[in-house]
Amino acid sequence: MQRLAGKVAIVTASTAGIGLGIARRLAQEGAGVMICSRKLENVQKTVDMLRSENLKVEGIPCHVGKAEDRENLIKATLDKFGGRIDALVSNAAVNPAYGPLQEMSESQWEKIFDINVKSAFLLSKEVIPVMQQQKSGSIVMVSSIAAYTAIEGLGAYSISKTALLGLSKVIAHEQAQYGIRCNCIAPGIVKTHFSEALWTDQKVHDKVVRQVPLRRFGEAEDIAGAAAFLCSADSSYMTGETMVIAGGMLPAKI
Ligand code: NAP
Repeated sequence: MQRLAGKVAIVTASTAGIGLGIARRLAQEGAGVMICSRKLENVQKTVDMLRSENLKVEGIPCHVGKAEDRENLIKATLDKFGGRIDALVSNAAVNPAYGPLQEMSESQWEKIFDINVKSAFLLSKEVIPVMQQQKSGSIVMVSSIAAYTAIEGLGAYSISKTALLGLSKVIAHEQAQYGIRCNCIAPGIVKTHFSEALWTDQKVHDKVVRQVPLRRFGEAEDIAGAAAFLCSADSSYMTGETMVIAGGMLPAKI
């Protein structure tokens, strides 16, 4: 499918895991994709790999929490891909602490909200004027099934992911008049570095996977297809929504 031929997309945190899967899929569907994450070596490796697959990608380091990096990211995307940005997939997130909220420090809370929420807000704010000029654009926020429930040990992370549901609804509401859509994806457990505590130990893996009706954890490709749909005209009447992609897992059972 070439649903995204001629389109230009930014995917944050796209040198590994879900972001890499999404970037690859958007490029396979014809988009020019800007690859980015904090470390230059990761960006270079990923760009080389995707180019060897004949995909149209460029790359630039970008720590989403740094204003200068975000500015460079947008400028480089416009420069390299002919002055447009059709899609932003805001995928970067951190979880520096595991434990009850009562044990969470102010700095840990701030880091979670800076990267997971504030950066998503600021990056979309910075991309929206470009999309407004084009009178079209699609913003996709990568939230989590954790947005819907209190998962033990992941309190602040869960709250940050709930905030993304609200952020995307507000952007969707405010930007619809400019032809800009904004939706969320809420993945269940996807086999990446981020979730490795849940699948590297066989006992933990078996216990957790029993909570997933499809009896397996997700792969980055499972999320990538949904992102491509949300970036494409196939979802042109959809905004302010969240797609849960979790193998049928019910949040309350995690
Ligand atoms: P991952 O495999 O650990 O990938 C992390 C990526 O993020 C790397 O490319 C890393 O590259 C980059 N990164 C880290 N901090 C960054 C920052 N401050 N700015 C820019 N890039 C940064 O993680 P993942 O599992 O794919 O998670 C991606 C998203 O999916 C997150 O929003 C996560 O909350 C969400 N999610 C994941 C799961 C799951 O089970 N895996 C479930 C639900 C939701 P550098 O080191 O080069 O920066």
